[in-house]
Amino acid sequence: MAMDKVDVLIIGGGISGLASAWWLARSGLSVEVWEASERPGGKIMSTRQDGYLTERAASMVLNFRPEVAELVREAGLEPEKTTRLPAAESRRYLLQQGRLNALPMRLGAMVASPLWSLRGKLRLLAEPFILSSGRADEPVSEFITRRLGHEVLDKAMGPFVAGMLAADADQASAAAVLPRLVALEQRYGSIGAGILVNRLLRKRTASTTETFSFRGGMGTLVEALAKTPGINLRTGHAAEELVRLRDSWQAAATTPQGQRAVTAQHVIVTTPAPAAAALVDSLDSELAELLRGIDYAAVAVVHTGLTRDAVGHPLDGTGFLAPKKESAALTGNLWMSTLFPDRAPPGKVLLTSYLGGARAPQVADWDDDHLVNEALEMLRPLIDLKADPEMVRIDRHREALPLYHGAYQARMQAIAARLQHIQGLHLEANYKGGVSVRDRLACGHAVASKILRAQQWPSIERKRREETERPGAKATCPIESMDAAIK
Ligand SMILES: Cc1cc2nc3c(=O)[nH]c(=O)nc-3n(C[C@H](O)[C@H](O)[C@H](O)COP(=O)(O)OP(=O)(O)OC[C@H]3O[C@@H](n4cnc5c(N)ncnc54)[C@H](O)[C@@H]3O)c2cc1C
Repeated sequence: MAMDKVDVLIIGGGISGLASAWWLARSGLSVEVWEASERPGGKIMSTRQDGYLTERAASMVLNFRPEVAELVREAGLEPEKTTRLPAAESRRYLLQQGRLNALPMRLGAMVASPLWSLRGKLRLLAEPFILSSGRADEPVSEFITRRLGHEVLDKAMGPFVAGMLAADADQASAAAVLPRLVALEQRYGSIGAGILVNRLLRKRTASTTETFSFRGGMGTLVEALAKTPGINLRTGHAAEELVRLRDSWQAAATTPQGQRAVTAQHVIVTTPAPAAAALVDSLDSELAELLRGIDYAAVAVVHTGLTRDAVGHPLDGTGFLAPKKESAALTGNLWMSTLFPDRAPPGKVLLTSYLGGARAPQVADWDDDHLVNEALEMLRPLIDLKADPEMVRIDRHREALPLYHGAYQARMQAIAARLQHIQGLHLEANYKGGVSVRDRLACGHAVASKILRAQQWPSIERKRREETERPGAKATCPIESMDAAIK
């Protein structure tokens, strides 16, 4: 068996693996990425079908982190970027009592709008006087209701947690899903007071918040990262074994050409948790057990292409979110052709429905007709559908998103504690530090910085110094996916 030597081996070629690889290769380390399938990108894939551009998973990046902006710029992707079209800037819709109600994008404007009851507004004024529960891993629904009242849960957080994280607000850990809000409560005793103090001190993670995709869709991002000079991407490489040697690692993969092994100083495992558990089982069975305990939600994505006049609704927003009491399986519908240019041929629209999540695991077993019918039945009255779609595409994910449910922070802390005893092994995927593409890119930066700090790499010492001395280059793995919307 041939045995190569690399500085860092990355297992898994999704956005988590590619982002880590990009930051490391940029610092001059030799990096190999093993991807089990035949293409890089993992869940992310953009597809052109009949003139429509569809997204299998992530369809946009909501960014406020400087290192993410830096990666996009330095990967040469600035000219490829497409920002949200003006029509999708100001509103999203919420399904309430069988109707779509327009809501402003920002929570502040949302609460000030006539859609918010006087009682809900008065309840918000009480927020600074509410005591902390003192409970670790309090569920999102309890945390939000306790601090901000039922209306914020029903009209904002509940539908967000379901629509964007496929999770259930009654089970999701507030500390894992809303870390910024929980930190504000812990630090200042109140979310409102914390936001005010941070504003006064001008404490912001970045100066601008931007929502963007790319001309060719999110596939452009993963393809560009995969082609970066210095990243040696090996597709068709399914990692099977990890062995700790005296001061390095040996990993083996099955490939179409037979077995392949490499030695590496550091290994980053970026696969979903069940595959990571299988890889670390022989090293630390308790770590494997902690990983196996992470539940995943299944999601089906139904893309529908229609002629513009087949839809009566003005489609003047990002789309709509559907709370669980309003909809059994459909969690939301994005109006992709309103969001970004060139998603549908002229005179046509592209609407993408998301079904499943924690609320409806049964969708994983529905056949295509069942999925399409469910989506269309919901859409028909809401957006005044007058005809059937001319294009339908379905993308299914059995392990769509990890659910940050239960005592999730305690689980993450236990995982971190076990990893402290396994030198040179890193776990970095969307079950840790946020599921969004932004968080994945930022966590890639954080793990790369950690590896660069952990070892004296003579060839890159100068670059490393530049990196750590650069202002604003503080590497953190943020865990702040959800509450980014609250400013
Ligand atoms: C339907 C949907 C919509 C979404 N929308 C958005 C959005 O609009 N914006 C946003 O920011 N985020 C969104 N997300 C979240 C985001 O897309 C994902 O969290 C992210 O892409 C996950 O990346 P990852 O690299 O951690 O995992 P993955 O993409 O799952 O990559 C893991 C890789 O590891 C490989 N692998 C597994 N086992 C092995 C092995 N033994 N050896 C080698 N390789 C292996 C797999 O083949 C895979 O390629 C969405 C997710 C879904 C499912």
